[in-house]
This record gives sequence, structure tokens and C-alpha cells, in this order.
Amino acid sequence: MEIADKLALNKFSVDTIPHLKIDQEKCHPCPHKNCTLVCPVSNYTQEGDRVVLSWEGCLECGTCRIACDQGSLQWQYPRGGFGIAYRLG
Ligand code: SF4
Ligand code: SF4
Repeated sequence: MEIADKLALNKFSVDTIPHLKIDQEKCHPCPHKNCTLVCPVSNYTQEGDRVVLSWEGCLECGTCRIACDQGSLQWQYPRGGFGIAYRLG
């Protein structure tokens, strides 16, 4: 089974309140934009000179939390009852 097929088994209950937030003022001068490279589901994308974050498909793996060394990212788990439910993914 391919990774994409495994990920498709998971179930998401998306919260309306983002559990991840970035500070654009700190992202703008960021020299590496590591978040756009490490997220396994490409939740971070560079659009022009801005990094845009989507939280809906977050795997809650915490990789971006480690990769961002600029103090920009506010990372927390979704509220109870929201987020990913792994199903053999
Ligand atoms: S690594 Fe951190 S500071 Fe750099 S672009 Fe990503 S979220 Fe912003
Ligand atoms: S916690 Fe993992 S899946 Fe979620 S945005 Fe960060 S790197 Fe991507």
C-alpha cells in the first residue's frame, strides 16, 4: 500500500479554530523557510514572499514545531474531539 493510500484511511474532524498559527512578521525574514520543506502533507506553501499555513490536514506529527527556529510558530494540539484519528495510516 502506498503512503498516500494509507493517509487516505485517516479521518479528520476539522476544528474551526486553527491549532497552528504563524507570525508573518517573523516568517518574512526567515532565511530558510524550513516548514515548506519538512511537512509531510505540505501544509506550508510559499506564495510570493509569504508562507501560507493550512491546518486542516495536519497529522499532528510535530515536525514543523522542531523545524521552525524563528519563534514564529504557535503549535498546540487541536481541541478535544478534533484533529486526526489514525486508522492504520
Ligand atoms: S520556518 Fe518558521 S519562521 Fe520560517 S517560514 Fe516557516 S513558520 Fe515561518
Ligand atoms: S504537525 Fe506535521 S503535519 Fe502538522 S503542519 Fe506540522 S509538519 Fe505538517
